[in-house]
Amino acid sequence: MVYRLIRSGVLTASAGPRGQLVAAREVMTVASKRRVDAVRRHRDLVSYARQIALTIWPPEPEKVVLSDGRAAIRNSEDVVRYATTPKGREALNRLDPDAVAVFGPAVIHTLADLKALRSAGACSFCWARDLASVRGGVGPSDSAAVRELIGEPCERDRAAMKANKAAVDKLWADVKTDDKRRRTVAAREAQRRECDDARADVERAARRLSAAVTASGASPVTEASRYRAQAVKERAAGDETMARHLESVAAKLAATS
Ligand SMILES: [Zn+2]
Repeated sequence: MVYRLIRSGVLTASAGPRGQLVAAREVMTVASKRRVDAVRRHRDLVSYARQIALTIWPPEPEKVVLSDGRAAIRNSEDVVRYATTPKGREALNRLDPDAVAVFGPAVIHTLADLKALRSAGACSFCWARDLASVRGGVGPSDSAAVRELIGEPCERDRAAMKANKAAVDKLWADVKTDDKRRRTVAAREAQRRECDDARADVERAARRLSAAVTASGASPVTEASRYRAQAVKERAAGDETMARHLESVAAKLAATS
């Protein structure tokens, strides 16, 4: 999941206070179940971003061009509706919690201030990067979904993201190594458990067998030697595992006599 997020650009490393990359913290943020679940709920992040953008900035009333060339609002009710619909920061509480979980607070707050930022001539991407480095959380990533929300990155953003790429690659490699190690440990643990279970099964079967032998009035010693003889045959046939199994059963039978 983490790789997919990095690859799809939802996860990005951003410049930290000492110029290093806050990759580890981001991985923690991303690894938080809430974010992973939120991303999973919105497979199509671009259309989800578009929906978020429309919630924060509802479309302006549609205009028509009159015969004399003047533009007019097609439907006057739209004007009222548009004027009374919350926009920008006032619309933030209309978003579902997944929006912040998926894109991070920096990008969502930048979206809410987008018109003010544009009229001030500020780069919204730079703004979002700064917000993330000050307040934490994920910064804007170089992805289509983030562009739907806050527009295009400028040259400085592109340079910063390029510088981060090496760090993201390293982070990715680290996560992969860690995953591999964890999988190996888990596999070994599963094998050990399986072995324990099998051993317990054998113990139970041997106990049942020896009880049955005793109950039938047969001699456990005779029965044990029958098992040993079979073990010799199995070993000769190359089945060492079966041979040992039969021997252990024989030993248990002999012990009950
Ligand atoms: Zn910028």
